[in-house]
Amino acid sequence: MTGPQTGPQTGPVTGPAPQPSATILVEPAPAVDEDWARDALLAEFGIEATVSPLVSERDRNFLARTADGDAFVVKVSNSAEDPDVVTMENDAMQHVATTAPDLPVPRLLARPSDQATAVVVEAPDERRHLMRVVTVLPGASVAHPLPARFAAELGASCARLANALRGFFHPAAGRKIEWDPRRIAMLRPHVSALHPERRQQITRFLDRLDGLPGLTESLPGWPLHADVTLSNVLASPDGTVTGLIDFGDLHHTARVCDLAIALASLLREAEDPWTASAEFLTGYQRHAPLEPAEAKVIGELVLARLVATVLISAWRSDLHTDNVAYVSENDEGSWRMLDRLTGISPEDLSLRFQRMCGTSRVAAAQRSSSGLLERRRSRLGGRLSPLFYREPLHVVRGDGPWLTTADGRRYLDAYNNVPVVGHAHPAVAQAMARQMATLNVHSRYLHENVVELAERIVATMPPGLDTCVFVNSGSEANDLAWRMATEYTGHRGAIVSDWAYHGVTEPTAAMSSNTWPEGHRPDHVATFASPYALAEGTAPGAAEAAARMAVAVEDLGHRGLAMTAIDSMFVSPGVLEPSDDFVAELVAHTRRAGGLFLADEVQAGYGRGGTNLWRFADFGVLPDFVTLGKPMGNGHPIAALVTRREIADRFTQVDEYFSTFGGNPVSCAAALTVLDIIEEGRLPARATEVGAHLRRGVETLADRHPDLVGEVRGHGLIAGIDVRDTEHSRGAAWLAERMRENGVLVSTTGRGDGVLKVRPPLVWDLGHVAVFLEALDRALNRGPEGAAYP
Ligand code: PMP
Repeated sequence: MTGPQTGPQTGPVTGPAPQPSATILVEPAPAVDEDWARDALLAEFGIEATVSPLVSERDRNFLARTADGDAFVVKVSNSAEDPDVVTMENDAMQHVATTAPDLPVPRLLARPSDQATAVVVEAPDERRHLMRVVTVLPGASVAHPLPARFAAELGASCARLANALRGFFHPAAGRKIEWDPRRIAMLRPHVSALHPERRQQITRFLDRLDGLPGLTESLPGWPLHADVTLSNVLASPDGTVTGLIDFGDLHHTARVCDLAIALASLLREAEDPWTASAEFLTGYQRHAPLEPAEAKVIGELVLARLVATVLISAWRSDLHTDNVAYVSENDEGSWRMLDRLTGISPEDLSLRFQRMCGTSRVAAAQRSSSGLLERRRSRLGGRLSPLFYREPLHVVRGDGPWLTTADGRRYLDAYNNVPVVGHAHPAVAQAMARQMATLNVHSRYLHENVVELAERIVATMPPGLDTCVFVNSGSEANDLAWRMATEYTGHRGAIVSDWAYHGVTEPTAAMSSNTWPEGHRPDHVATFASPYALAEGTAPGAAEAAARMAVAVEDLGHRGLAMTAIDSMFVSPGVLEPSDDFVAELVAHTRRAGGLFLADEVQAGYGRGGTNLWRFADFGVLPDFVTLGKPMGNGHPIAALVTRREIADRFTQVDEYFSTFGGNPVSCAAALTVLDIIEEGRLPARATEVGAHLRRGVETLADRHPDLVGEVRGHGLIAGIDVRDTEHSRGAAWLAERMRENGVLVSTTGRGDGVLKVRPPLVWDLGHVAVFLEALDRALNRGPEGAAYP
């Protein structure tokens, strides 16, 4: 189009789109007024409306109202605006409308003639512009003082908009803009435009911020709105965000830059910046948890954005003398905040934000080990807090069957059964984090998780075991079983195996025969001899069980038998494998004596035994109580008692029971995810295969070292290895130390700790077995002083 234009064009402009000729921050805004806008709206979009101007920095925006009461914003872009960028903005708005339809972003109107959402128009001064029409959102600019909930709302909106844009791409998003806090170095030439008194302060900040591009390079990023500021957010009077407008700064940047832009804008206006920051970040992380590396740089990026604000304002005030008030409207708040940040070191600022985000613990947990042992001794200390190994391990990270220490060494975990699906399993961590960010309360309200967990556990049990009670530890589960048993039977005596372990509460400690002082047993507890092999390969049968139980019942005398408890794997006495007959007779004998039977699956359960999820099922018995714990939450404390309703009902006639944390939604989310992973990974079947391979390998080594290694026992993925204490070897504890030196973690069990206990996460495969056997081979080939055996 040539020649001067006095009004808007009618009909589509067929000539070229506007060509960016100068940088967008320098080119004056379009020279159009409301009459022009009114005519253009009618000509291009067929909308008749009254039009009034809105404030804008580099574009011209107008509010249009039709006689029907509809309202639109007419946006006339700066002629220096790249048409690709306008297309990108439109595409992004439409992307958000699809991916997050409930986010309040404006909807674009299409020109009736060709469905274009951006049309070329010419202004009276002959410059060409793109014009768009968008819907008006409810609400207004947030008022002062900021409403109480606004900070959290802003954080949440910023995160939700970032989430909604995650899959969005446009080639123009790669543009570099001066407002991106990472690009603060681009603005250094404008320090001279500042008041002389301010130059030194800003130069010091710029020096400090030099490293930002490097610090943010590898952080998560994608095309982001990058301007979720108080100018572009509409809110209701109570602070609820009702509109997110102006996608004009959209570009590819780090997510944390997008966050810092919003936060800097909030801090300019907030009464107390630290409270506002904490609320903003809480709102943000409800929708998008931040990575520790992101939390670390928030403070510096906020600072960078504030510096950018005052520098761009100084530079543009020189250029646009007619629009100084608008260009510099954020100066006052920015300077106030910059002055507050002046005295805070980068390290302190970073730590403050890490704390608010809840990521500072990650950094603390990874600090060096020096001093940690002393601090622990002084505040935990003594025999109440024993540590493994002569030189304790400072572990900082877990990953499947591997543990990493502070010095960076990786160890194969052959000991820990609690992380049954592997250390730090991401699915468990995510399930818990999501639930924790949604809701966590006790179990006195209806909640799906606890019900589903109970249903799934009961479905794995034999008929009759129909009722679950959720608690926080194996001890509590056994303790409750004991209370129910005494109530139900009216008896007061317990029978356990010798060298058993069942917990730490008074009743369960009494049932833990491996903790009794030599020669002492509580009056109300009797023991039977554990099913040690009678001779190589022969486990005691029903007759032995009957004889042993008869003596034990006799020992209880007038108290009578309330409950017999076994650890279904007899781990504490050295990992024993009872015959089916032996266990069946323990149960039958218990019933004949009027008692109830507890299968303690706290160690044995969750597929470790292979074949079945619960080891007692292998023996074909039906217990009255089953207790679960340890692996149940893969490291998160959750445990359960499963029993018959009739027993539970009898108990509640005289007593009540409520555990504050038992069965809370987060613990149950962990436990449900553990069950999912065990089922999907068919971990019990894998335990059978990998465990058999492990024991065969150890037996081969035992054959080569008959002076050091004796019997190898176990079922599924567990091995109890008898280690001889000879003049060459110092027994199982010595071997465990050597294994640690070789990068494998094991422990000991059995009377006198003479048994090496190998009880890894169930995610071991044959490769892990090979690593273990190699380390054991090396350990066995080493003399006590490091000399090789002949
Ligand atoms: N029963 C058995 C068989 C156990 O192995 C343990 C823990 N080692 C417990 C009960 C007690 O569980 P918690 O430590 O969770 O109280």
